[in-house]
Amino acid sequence: MNKELKIYNSLTKQKEIFKPLVEGHVGMYVCGPTVYSNVHLGNVRTFISFDVIYRYLKFLGYKVRYVRNITDAGHLEDDTQEDKISKKARLEKLEPMEIVQQYTIDFHKVLDLVNNLPPDIEPTATGHIIEQIETTKDILNKGYAYESNGSIYFDVVKYNNEIDKYGKLSGRNIDEMIANTRELEGQDEKRNPQDFALWKKAKPQHIMRWPSPWGEGFPGWHMECTVMSTKYLGEQFDIHGGGMDLKFPHHECEIAQGKTANGVDPVKYWMHANMLTLNGQKMSKSTGNHLLPNEIFSGNNDKLSKAYSPAVVRFFMLQAHYRNILDLSEDALQAAEKGYKRMMEAIKLLDKLPVSDNSSFDINELITGFYTAMNDDFNTPILIANLFEAVKYINQINDGKATISQADKEKLSKAVKDFTFDVLGLHKELQETGHNQAFDKTIQLLIELRNQARADKNWALSDKIRDELAKFGIILKDGKGGTTYSFK
Ligand code: AMP
Ligand code: ZN
Repeated sequence: MNKELKIYNSLTKQKEIFKPLVEGHVGMYVCGPTVYSNVHLGNVRTFISFDVIYRYLKFLGYKVRYVRNITDAGHLEDDTQEDKISKKARLEKLEPMEIVQQYTIDFHKVLDLVNNLPPDIEPTATGHIIEQIETTKDILNKGYAYESNGSIYFDVVKYNNEIDKYGKLSGRNIDEMIANTRELEGQDEKRNPQDFALWKKAKPQHIMRWPSPWGEGFPGWHMECTVMSTKYLGEQFDIHGGGMDLKFPHHECEIAQGKTANGVDPVKYWMHANMLTLNGQKMSKSTGNHLLPNEIFSGNNDKLSKAYSPAVVRFFMLQAHYRNILDLSEDALQAAEKGYKRMMEAIKLLDKLPVSDNSSFDINELITGFYTAMNDDFNTPILIANLFEAVKYINQINDGKATISQADKEKLSKAVKDFTFDVLGLHKELQETGHNQAFDKTIQLLIELRNQARADKNWALSDKIRDELAKFGIILKDGKGGTTYSFK
């Protein structure tokens, strides 16, 4: 089938025909989460976008090596310059690695629920400290970094003058950047405000620290992605992805580091996924305009009237193209739920459809449409629209208003299932939707029985129901409006 895949390259700002560096193979790196808090739905959207990209590349027959890191050190808060994980550890009086473990597990659980495939390699920043020190030394030796007070900074101006334009990915101009920068802590150590840390000296209170040739410290955030992508995919690789907000400075710095250390542009195709908003506003923890995956899956939140299954949430997200902003609202979720159910109902009918001598519509054209959509920069909303075209025919054939031959029926069934389950990744949830509803009803029944027991003053039984559920991680909460449940 048509294999001409086009990818929008954020670097050249145009769609380009995808040609991997090594024929038949694809190296893909995606910036993973900073594991200092629960993964939120915005993060989930970005990882679903890249999961579908991974799935489609594999579906086309490429051998893909997908690397997605875990940032477990070095990501500093903008204002305080404190390490996000260290800060959380300090506030919760836990070891930083306890924070890392807790939120890595949460991250994996949520991505599993929305049926993302795991990456082929999931390296961590702390597991690659030696490589980060080595690359820092290399850039220092080449003269594009300097030591200041035990920290190593990348010399952006020198790079911009001698190697390549700094700002070429995000479309920024270095002179304007310099003019617009406000003074931040630690800036006096730098020759220029745009210079960024390759290695930072650890203050006495900083918990996450490692020995280095420049004293005890920790790596700068951008360095981990450079060394891990180089180590597992090579000095130059095919695709680098992440959310739009990482373009600058993170990815800009990765280009500068990679090009200085290895002499080549590290990435052929830069891909950036757009943001998820909630009721028209940016999702943000600080403003409360925020929803966690478990809050949407359980319905336990004050923004939505009911629960939506992980499958519906995935379907909802894929109804937008990954480069467009997507807004989450009750109306949009309800529409997605309706659409998802309609699609699944039609797929259930597929294999039972009556056959005729010939087909009353052009099946090849229909199937080609699936490929055309995905080949056009992974256009999932068009693919879904084309799948709904198939749904329309399936329903017409079932109602005796259209016909299909045996051979075409087999072709259609395979294509619709391939694209729905393998490419869009809606498979697992097909069964789960039923399970989720049955699970919810079961808990509601137990809540009712407990209420009955309490009305009968049968405290032993009511306590038993509550305590046994707690053992499974299901917490009952008695409120004004009745009893609700959440997951521990
Ligand atoms: P972080 O854990 O903050 O490093 O983010 C992990 C990934 O999620 C990055 O690729 C971010 O760009 C992406 N991301 C963060 N917020 C959003 C959002 N509201 N919508 C979509 N993606 C996001
Ligand atoms: Zn990164």
